[in-house]
Amino acid sequence: MESTATKSSQQTIAQFEQNVIPNYPRYPICLVRGEGTYVWDAEGNRYLDLFPGWGCNILGHCPPPVVQAIQEQASRLIHIPNTWYTEPQGEFAELLCTRGFGQAFFCNSGAEAVEAAIKLARLHTPEGRHNIVTFENGFHGRTFAAVTATAQPKYHEGLGPLMAGFRYAPFNDLSAVEDLVSDDTCAILVEPIQGEGGVNIPDEEFLAGLRRIADENNCLLIFDEVQTCMGRTGTWFGYQQWGVRPDILTMAKGIAAGVACGAIIADREVAASLRPGMHASTFGGNPLAMAAGVAAVKMIEEQNLLENCREMSARFQSRLEALKDELPIIDQLRIRGMMVGIDLSIPAGPAVGKCMERGVLVNATHDTVVRLLPPLNVTAEQVDEGCDVLATVLREMADEA
Ligand SMILES: *Cc1c(COP(=O)(O)O)cnc(C)c1O
Repeated sequence: MESTATKSSQQTIAQFEQNVIPNYPRYPICLVRGEGTYVWDAEGNRYLDLFPGWGCNILGHCPPPVVQAIQEQASRLIHIPNTWYTEPQGEFAELLCTRGFGQAFFCNSGAEAVEAAIKLARLHTPEGRHNIVTFENGFHGRTFAAVTATAQPKYHEGLGPLMAGFRYAPFNDLSAVEDLVSDDTCAILVEPIQGEGGVNIPDEEFLAGLRRIADENNCLLIFDEVQTCMGRTGTWFGYQQWGVRPDILTMAKGIAAGVACGAIIADREVAASLRPGMHASTFGGNPLAMAAGVAAVKMIEEQNLLENCREMSARFQSRLEALKDELPIIDQLRIRGMMVGIDLSIPAGPAVGKCMERGVLVNATHDTVVRLLPPLNVTAEQVDEGCDVLATVLREMADEA
């Protein structure tokens, strides 16, 4: 496959070193083109991308119906402010709310969606009720409220003072939540499956227990579905896996198949508290992102991708289960839909480079977890190709351990 690069990876890296703030550890590769589950670098090497766009490219790279929708929308109207109505925003809101519930507010990222949810929760509940309970090893983004909600000390270092009004409980610990919730609590905020924290799947009764505690204490339940929305878990939203509905739900990452977009949906009665003038986002709900989101929902339905997600999930499960039986360095598999966590008894970091050398892109998180967020349209052959490489790499790591 021909590369579309005009420079070598080295030339681009040199340009970055001069001009881009080095706040990200980056692999020394410049990616130039993607198609489905594959990407190519400037040197023309091909990679099987099992972590496309950090989970944002939920339909893989450049899905044709989404590309076409963006091109058509770009030639008609790229941006207008929220002082006007646009067809794509109305249509995307309807698609999300009819698959979920309530009414939508649009922004541009996950952290912004979390900010909107926190503001709405504080606006909706009486003054004095301002505390928010969140969970250890959760991840909610990098703005001040979102990072304070993120109960991981490594993300707080040097940033203090943080925002007031957050309380942290261990994930899956309902009695700790009972102890923290009182008449100054406005909301409980949780990821239905903790993503960045290592693909932590809740105990069967946990989310229902949080719903009960929220109801008994007149506070709101917020699910941060930035990572679990848009079919990632095999249903449109993660909450549908457990039949526990939150009052407010945040979305971003895959919501517009790789175009920057965030959103919340909230029950109508709660949503009414986001009064005109209390919150806004200049780029939120822009026609380009909305058109991409509409095309993504339609593609998922027309190509039965929720079903494919569940089938490919079962395939990962059985392939990796066999590997776990063989390799004692695999402590636990945590798989739900296209969220795959392989928890090792040794550091997971080296797996990333070793897989990359063999043409497969994966992620490592929370020290010991190899994480995959494959696109909903991944094929059986690609699952097998990825699992073959993972098997080779994990066997090598087991030998070295
Ligand atoms: C990635 C993530 C965020 C932050 O999203 P950004 O778009 O980077 O701001 C928030 N919550 C969860 C659950 C996430 O996975």
